[in-house]
Amino acid sequence: MVDLQGQYAKIKDIVDPSIEEVMNSATFINGPKVHQFQKNLENYLNVKHVIPCANGTDALQIAMMGLGLKPGDEVITADFTFAATVEVIALLQLTPVLVDVDPVTFNIDVDAIKKAITPKTKAIVPVHLFGLAADMDAIMDLAKEHNLYVIEDNAQGIGGDYTHKDGSKTKTGAIGDVASTSFFPSKNLGCYGDGGAIFTNDDDLAHTIRGIVNHGMYKRYHHDVVGVNSRLDSIQAAVLDAKLPHLDAYNTARRHAARKYNEAFKNHPRITTPTGLSSCDGICDNCNCHVFHQYTLNLNGVDRDALVAHLNENNIPCGVYYPIPLHKQKAYVDSRYNEADFVVTNQLVTSVISLPMHTELDDEQIDFITSTVLNFINANS
Ligand SMILES: *Cc1c(COP(=O)(O)O)cnc(C)c1O
Repeated sequence: MVDLQGQYAKIKDIVDPSIEEVMNSATFINGPKVHQFQKNLENYLNVKHVIPCANGTDALQIAMMGLGLKPGDEVITADFTFAATVEVIALLQLTPVLVDVDPVTFNIDVDAIKKAITPKTKAIVPVHLFGLAADMDAIMDLAKEHNLYVIEDNAQGIGGDYTHKDGSKTKTGAIGDVASTSFFPSKNLGCYGDGGAIFTNDDDLAHTIRGIVNHGMYKRYHHDVVGVNSRLDSIQAAVLDAKLPHLDAYNTARRHAARKYNEAFKNHPRITTPTGLSSCDGICDNCNCHVFHQYTLNLNGVDRDALVAHLNENNIPCGVYYPIPLHKQKAYVDSRYNEADFVVTNQLVTSVISLPMHTELDDEQIDFITSTVLNFINANS
């Protein structure tokens, strides 16, 4: 699904010296590389504060701790996403409220959020799923109206732009009250281990969070709040700082691959290609709306298991993200949920398939993948 070896081979000359600097200085924890990366990412995202941490799941948890959410507070998020989002809500003894997604964008459905708001609701967590920004203007308006926090889960969307109603653009992760991201190796900006970060434009919240990631300390050995230990180590920061200048080119390469895929599958009656923005298809030349963490098709009347087997036989990796709605996962079942409220997610889990998507895909590989998919679907449906 990804080609991290191919990517590393091309940037070895900048990554290796960056790592070597850390090795030679032996500043493995909180070294200058961490600070340097933090500043460079703040500039890139145009956000006031980046607080690095150990991984994207911690980032979500720490963001929620920073906002002072209390047990019993309800937090609304999407039913169709990676489990980390709902996991941290439950871990903090907040009440997860899962809602359905939009069938075209796969992102959280704003009308479903509206219906789920109660007097106990404290926050909304939109996930920029597969690299496409959620409907942030509508979500921010709704949050303002009901006095709710917005926590963007930007683990799959880093580097993407959100285009506001007035045409202006903001980087995903710089729109809500606070955002989280992951630097897991396969993410759009991946390190060579685990890593994550929290973003916010709020000075007070940033201060609170900087203490929480460091055992609740604001002054050495004075523990004012219950915190955690969550650090981005200097070697990972060195990798990320070397890769950050390539992020836009990486996302452009992903969009190029997506455009090639889209062209091959265009107008096919059994395949819906990713799209979803009213103003553009997310892959137009002058925008960076979709950063294609995943390239995901929605199939109609195709035996997906047989297609997966056929792709595997042809040595083409593929993935099903995600095969089970979160509201049906054992850990998160809740008698308050009503199946009629999850029509879209219940369908998507049976019909989506993600094809290889990364920075090193070439046209020949894409042609092989698309012709293998099309040959199978045309012969079997
Ligand atoms: C990857 C991911 C996370 C978690 O990131 P880790 O660094 O693996 O903890 C959270 N949310 C979403 C949507 C993700 O894709």
